[in-house]
Amino acid sequence: MSACRDVVIVGGGAIGASAAFHLVADPGFGGTVTVIERDPRHARSATALSVASIRTQFSQPGNVAMSLHGADVIRRFPQITATEDGPGPDLAFHEAGYLTLAATGAGAETLRANHAVQVASGADVALWSPDDIAAAFPHLRTDDLMLGAYGRSNEGWFDNMGMLSGYRRAARARGATFVAGEVTGLVRDGPRVCGVVLADGSEIAAGAVVNAAGTRAGQVGAMAGLRLPVGPRKRTVFVFDCARSPEGSATVAKGRLPLMVDPSGVYCRPEGRGFVTGAAPDPDPEVAFDDFEPREAEFDNVIWPALAARSEAFEAIRVQARWVGHYEWNAFDQNLLLGAHPDAPGLVSACGLSGHGLQQAPAVGRAVAEIVLHGATRAIDLSDFGVARVDEGRPLTERAVI
Ligand SMILES: Cc1cc2nc3c(=O)[nH]c(=O)nc-3n(C[C@H](O)[C@H](O)[C@H](O)COP(=O)(O)OP(=O)(O)OC[C@H]3O[C@@H](n4cnc5c(N)ncnc54)[C@H](O)[C@@H]3O)c2cc1C
Repeated sequence: MSACRDVVIVGGGAIGASAAFHLVADPGFGGTVTVIERDPRHARSATALSVASIRTQFSQPGNVAMSLHGADVIRRFPQITATEDGPGPDLAFHEAGYLTLAATGAGAETLRANHAVQVASGADVALWSPDDIAAAFPHLRTDDLMLGAYGRSNEGWFDNMGMLSGYRRAARARGATFVAGEVTGLVRDGPRVCGVVLADGSEIAAGAVVNAAGTRAGQVGAMAGLRLPVGPRKRTVFVFDCARSPEGSATVAKGRLPLMVDPSGVYCRPEGRGFVTGAAPDPDPEVAFDDFEPREAEFDNVIWPALAARSEAFEAIRVQARWVGHYEWNAFDQNLLLGAHPDAPGLVSACGLSGHGLQQAPAVGRAVAEIVLHGATRAIDLSDFGVARVDEGRPLTERAVI
């Protein structure tokens, strides 16, 4: 990138921590890594407020490839992030699959088209008839369904904070520094970005600055004059229990229920003794960075009716808790924005993951390290995800956004 080999990462969530780890773990990297995080307790980061699930059911081959890598890393995380003090955390991978349901001809066509991409990209996803679905998960009503897609492996859920702390600990052990502070400006040398300015006025020089600022990545891009269409979209997650558990279902998923995506868009998966559920709101406006008020009405108006229609077991349910998180929404095409822009060399973006970034943090962090060290992605070709596509009006739309 430039003569200075030091790297500053803006944002210490899953993406920033993974990028830090992959840089310092690379024997070819001879610089320093400093991660700047404005909210070191992660009270409001997407990483901490995530539903922490992983799927290979995407419509873009690059997303399938990134999540397949994510599943592999999640399984081997203790070894991958081991330090002299011992193995990294076990991420408690519940590999119970996603079950995506379609109730219309158009919905079934989309599942079929996505399935062709998934299988061609190496995913282990099966298309199921309503009878197949009823046989596997007898608690579900299937009379209105046309098709389902079920991930037989590499899909499920895992420990989000374990991933964050494991990457952070392993990066620190290899020399990375994590600093509490807010980046308020970028240092430029002509168009080149060559450092950051912190809120206290201090500056840190860098050969590369990584924009892993999550929902605030648009702000960081603007500091370099870039238009990155990334901002916060509110998601309310509800935790509920059932009077009558559907857990007795004879499932093919190792005795466990999958993460179900109903045709209504409502998703639901087991969490401990209960379930977590949510839905994308309609309308879905950008919200203020400090707006974490739950949208209580979503449960009664949208989620409960959809769940009760899908299973008798979900007719008598009680909300036990709820939380609000912000998706880092890429309004252009709901996909990762990766790499440097010709107008601001030295600023490597890794943002805009639109609600599927936790599972892709292993692949994205590795890709950032490859871009810093080699100028391009290597292990997975992610050149389609380049930031310049926004200015060029070339969307890489992900159809399977939950
Ligand atoms: C409700 C919800 C459910 C989700 N479910 C899933 C799921 O099931 N599976 C999945 O894969 N993904 C899911 N996601 C998305 C996933 O959590 C995110 O894509 C991922 O965590 C993004 O990581 P990140 O590091 O980019 O962002 P974050 O974790 O938000 O981290 C960015 C960090 O940058 C810091 N920052 C911002 N600006 C500055 C600045 N100027 N200076 C210093 N620091 C700064 C912030 O404080 C923040 O901590 C979900 C998200 C939400 C909200």
